[in-house]
Order: sequence, then structure tokens, then C-alpha cells
Amino acid sequence: MKKIAIVGGGPGGLTLARLLQVKGVSSVKVYERDINKDARVQGATLDLHEESGLAALREAGLIPAFMENYRPGADKIRILDKDANIIVDEHAGQKVEYRPEIDRGPLRKILLESLADDTVVWDSQFADMERSGEGWLLQFKNGTTAYADIVVGADGANSKIRPFLTPIKPFFVGMTAVEGSVYDASEKVPEMVELVKGGKLFIFGDSKTLIVSAKGDGTLSFYAGFQSAADWEIQGSVLDWFKSAFKGWAPIYESLIANVSGGVIPRPQYCMPLDQDWEAQANLTMLGDAAHLMPPYAGEGVNMAMLDALELSRCLTEGEDMLAAIAKYEREMRERASATAAMTLEQTEVLHGPDAMQHMLGLVS
Ligand SMILES: Cc1cc2nc3c(=O)[nH]c(=O)nc-3n(C[C@H](O)[C@H](O)[C@H](O)COP(=O)(O)OP(=O)(O)OC[C@H]3O[C@@H](n4cnc5c(N)ncnc54)[C@H](O)[C@@H]3O)c2cc1C
Repeated sequence: MKKIAIVGGGPGGLTLARLLQVKGVSSVKVYERDINKDARVQGATLDLHEESGLAALREAGLIPAFMENYRPGADKIRILDKDANIIVDEHAGQKVEYRPEIDRGPLRKILLESLADDTVVWDSQFADMERSGEGWLLQFKNGTTAYADIVVGADGANSKIRPFLTPIKPFFVGMTAVEGSVYDASEKVPEMVELVKGGKLFIFGDSKTLIVSAKGDGTLSFYAGFQSAADWEIQGSVLDWFKSAFKGWAPIYESLIANVSGGVIPRPQYCMPLDQDWEAQANLTMLGDAAHLMPPYAGEGVNMAMLDALELSRCLTEGEDMLAAIAKYEREMRERASATAAMTLEQTEVLHGPDAMQHMLGLVS
């Protein structure tokens, strides 16, 4: 029984831990930097796709738990222009495609509850590691250490594990997304809540995007995307920035920024090179954003992370030769991610250009 350390308890890392335990691997630990399971999980709702996110949950035996926690109707979208005209309305029967949505928090809860006791070691921010025998000695910021035969980097966009596999860095894609949330939205921004109607808004205009989604806890999450330099920063107040950057947009959109809870997070958008490659190691690999960060404009990130977990769990449990197993997983993962990233980059560019609305209407008609 090899000891497996998964660094990062996001959707990818937790799905891998569950799948390994389902397949009989008992010596799995997830080292997560969050202080405990109750740390607030940010971000919009996630739509899980049949062939990836849902396929992983199916093999993990978690479809019944998913069915209890997903949000029927949250996948309904409205497409609007900058004047707040509704151009496409799935609530009025213009249904495009069914992709069940679940909030990040409930997805994390389902995965956590499915794991054996003490699988997740909270408050364990990975700091460094060194080779030790056949495996690795991991060091955490809180001063603790742990040995593992195999380490899996599932620590997201700014992975500290990735440099042990490759020096290849992501490249800037030419735009930034400013992310924020409004808690208790029906009190603070009732008109926006009415407009979102429990689903999602995709708003396009002036080569910019505003994507808004309702969460089950009464929060509205949003991210505003626009072309920018890599080192772009908000000068002055967030509201002043929005008023000038999204000048001429309907006042209702501004209400989100005026009522934002706890500030916004500017996220310059990066993508891993599509031709990235590295030499496989028998005791180290990675998955999800750590392996193939890409912008969120095709809604594939979580799905890819969970599919990686599914494929890696199969590779790690089907044979004795770990180098061959990891090499196979990484080869297929890179190929898959590269095709998805190419599509995502194309989508990101078009949605932040003059033909965004036309393109989106083409996708949904
Ligand atoms: C604004 C926005 C909207 C998005 N919308 C969608 C969407 O609609 N659909 C979709 O599929 N994807 C979406 N994504 C992408 C998606 O969030 C990611 O692709 C996905 O979360 C990747 O999962 P992961 O498990 O690889 O990494 P993460 O979710 O980033 O999880 C990494 C985990 O590792 C932990 N960690 C980090 N560093 C350390 C460390 N040093 N030591 C220990 N633990 C550590 C973190 O706390 C976290 O729990 C969106 C992303 C953004 C920014």
C-alpha cells in the first residue's frame, strides 16, 4: 500500500481521494491550506458535464448525493445587452441544453462527507518538499512534515507542486476578470435578483462581459471581464472604476458593484501553453488547474479537474508500474486539456470582442 499525498482539497483533489478510497486505497491524505471545512467557499455555481464532472461522481458513487444537492433551474440562462434588454430567455422556454448546476460549497461538502475520517488534514499549507527514499518528505507552513510515496499536486492555479515537475509557466491571455459576490442579495439588490431568477446572466457589450449567477445561499456572484494588461490594477474605488470602464451600461448592473460584500478580486487570466510537456516521474504528478490552468469562459475547469481525478485514480490502481501509469495519465491529460484550452481561448477572445453577442446567439440558436 503506497502512501498517497494529495496537496489541495479543491474539487479535483477531493474527487481523487474519494475515487482512490472507493478503489480500495486506504493510505490517502489530502493536505489543504484552509483552516477547516467551514472556510467560506467562494465562486459561482458550477455546471457539471455528463462526460467529465458527472462521470467522476458516478464512479465515486455520489450521484444520489449530487441529486440531493444540485440546483434544478440554476442552469437557466438569460443573455442580455448592456442596456439590460433580454435577448435570449431560457426562463421563457428558450431552453438550450441541460447541464445541472451545483454550488461549490455543497459540492465540497458531498465530497468531504464521502471520505474516510481524517482523510483531510486542514491548515496544511504546502511549503516545500524534498526527496526521501522512494518518495517525498513534505513540509507545511505550520511546521509539520509528512512522508508520501506518491505526491499529487491538486493545489490549483498557483501550484507549489508544479515546479517540481516542470518550469513551464502559464501565459497571460490579455484580459482580466474582476470577481465579486453580494451576500443577502434579495435585500441588497432585489432588482438584480429578479433579473437573474435563480439562474445565470450573460451580458455582452463594448467588448466586455458581465456574468452573474445565483447561489443557493442567497448570494449573487459575478465576474466582469475586459481586455487589459497583465499588471492592471483598480485605481481608486471599485465603483468609480466600474462606472468608467462600463460607462453607458444600464444602472442596474452598477448595483452589484455598489453592494459588493467584502471587496472584489481582480483575476488576470492565464492559460497553460497548449504544447506543454514534461518528463513523467514515478512518484509525482498533478491534476486540475495546477496542470492546465485556463480561463473560465467555456465552463470546463472543474469538469476537467474531476475528469483528471477519474483517469488518474484508474491509472494508479490498475498496475504495479507507477512510472508507466503516471506517464499514460499525463500524456492523455495533456492532450485532452490542450484541446479544451484551445476551444476556451477562442471563446474567451470572441466574447471579449465586438462580435460577442452575435457569437453567443449562434451558440444558443
Ligand atoms: C471567476 C471564475 C469562474 C469560474 N467558473 C467556472 C465554471 O463555471 N465552471 C467550471 O468548470 N470552472 C469554472 N472555473 C474554474 C474552476 O474554478 C477551476 O478550474 C477549478 O476550481 C479547478 O479545480 P482544482 O481542484 O484543480 O483547483 P482549485 O479549485 O483551485 O482547488 C485548489 C485547492 O488547493 C488548495 N491549495 C492551494 N495552495 C495550496 C497549498 N500551498 N497547500 C495546500 N493547499 C493548497 C486551495 O485552498 C484549494 O482548496 C472558474 C474560475 C474562476 C476564477
